Amino acid sequence: EPIVITIDGPAGAGKTTISRRLSDLLSYRYVDTGALYRGVALCAEKACVDLTNEKELSSFLQSLTLSLVRDAAGGLTLVADGEDITSLIRTPAMSMAASKVAALPLVRAWLLEVQRQLGREKAVVFEGRDMGTVVFPEADVKFFLTADISVRARRRYAELPENSGQSLEDVLEDMKKRDDQDAGRDLAPLVAASDAIYIDASAFSIDEVLGQMMVHIRA
Ligand code: C5P
Repeated sequence: EPIVITIDGPAGAGKTTISRRLSDLLSYRYVDTGALYRGVALCAEKACVDLTNEKELSSFLQSLTLSLVRDAAGGLTLVADGEDITSLIRTPAMSMAASKVAALPLVRAWLLEVQRQLGREKAVVFEGRDMGTVVFPEADVKFFLTADISVRARRRYAELPENSGQSLEDVLEDMKKRDDQDAGRDLAPLVAASDAIYIDASAFSIDEVLGQMMVHIRA
């Protein structure tokens, strides 16, 4: 079985940067599972899928193909049925839409298989919300990365394009709403796995967090 490292935690904790850097250090593949949820949300919206209709949703999922490809700059390109949708999934609206579809059992079951298949192919750093709890309960090393909500909101705000029209307060509000939605859902709620290494990154730099992680990975 290839090695699996999981990094779960709320939005804006730095999971993406850390996962990317960690996968580079270890020469593992990197999979951003939030991007997959965003991809499902975007494609369902484009196809006008009625999310309350299980038959419709299920046939939509059966015909959907999502794949993540590492680009030259080290980021991930999300391809849906042959189309590059990377630039369309990082909007505040898609963050919320992803969180909505993430509460649907059919969507989680479909992505469970997609994710597990990726874990069978080669060593991977998986970033998400339920990687260590649900998708890979037997993962080799599990991290739960978090930070104060004010730190997370400021980070997210700094990443927004200048013309986003969003204030820091808007970002904070959206983040709280999404965290509550992700933590409060019945299925795969956002919690740390009991055997996860818990890291509060509020007071640490990225390099410091990576250093702490490498100590656990090498142990
Ligand atoms: O990580 P990101 O913010 O891109 O994730 C978007 C949404 O996808 C999250 O708010 C969450 O609802 C959902 N998600 C999930 N399980 C994962 C990854 C993401 O439910 N493993």
